[in-house]
Amino acid sequence: MNVEQAKQWLRQTSARLSEHKDELSTLDHALGDGDHGVNMHRGFQAVVEGLDEWEDLSLSSLMQKVGSTLVSKVGGAAGPLYGTAFMRMGAAWKGIEQVNGSAWSEGLSKAVEGIAQRGKTSTGDGTLLDVWSPVAEAFTEGEPSWDNIESAAYKGMEATEEMVVKKGRGALLGEQSVGHIDPGAVSSYYLFQELANTMKA
Ligand code: ADP
Ligand code: MG
Ligand code: MG
Repeated sequence: MNVEQAKQWLRQTSARLSEHKDELSTLDHALGDGDHGVNMHRGFQAVVEGLDEWEDLSLSSLMQKVGSTLVSKVGGAAGPLYGTAFMRMGAAWKGIEQVNGSAWSEGLSKAVEGIAQRGKTSTGDGTLLDVWSPVAEAFTEGEPSWDNIESAAYKGMEATEEMVVKKGRGALLGEQSVGHIDPGAVSSYYLFQELANTMKA
């Protein structure tokens, strides 16, 4: 992925999140406060607006700008988590203009580490980490197959339905959280599906 493809990925993700804004908020209505779609839409819209200003940035600096924008514009619990993920990818990609298999693996594992630290969470807690973590894992297998990346994200998202949510607002429901897909896992699935779409195009 080069910087132009990264921008394309962000634009497509923004469009996708905007299409699914109501769906994501409805999912969050079951487990939380019903604003996840609105939060993600607002955050990625700010990213897309920023892209015009951030024209000359390196891939690394672009990712860091995206991260800080998501922290401030998504807000809530998801903002700092998505933001940390992008900032960690940016830090991992210093001096890299073309992300290949090993850089993906490095960047995504740092992102997962960042989410886990920031959210004081681990896989199986029924959060967006249950998508990011298997995706990072799939990238350790050498040059990525985009279909494998997408299917890792999809399976991770689906698996949250059967989990007792341990972090975030959903945790307040205890066992009652079973049977609901985590909204952050769904938005993360869209993010990685658009990554695969961008890279296959
Ligand atoms: P808020 O809960 O503040 O309204 P959002 O609705 O935008 O924020 O985001 C909720 C999502 O954030 C959840 O679906 C979950 O994936 C994720 N999340 C919340 N808390 C945590 C945490 N501690 N660790 C990992 N992910 C979390
Ligand atoms: Mg919410
Ligand atoms: Mg909220």
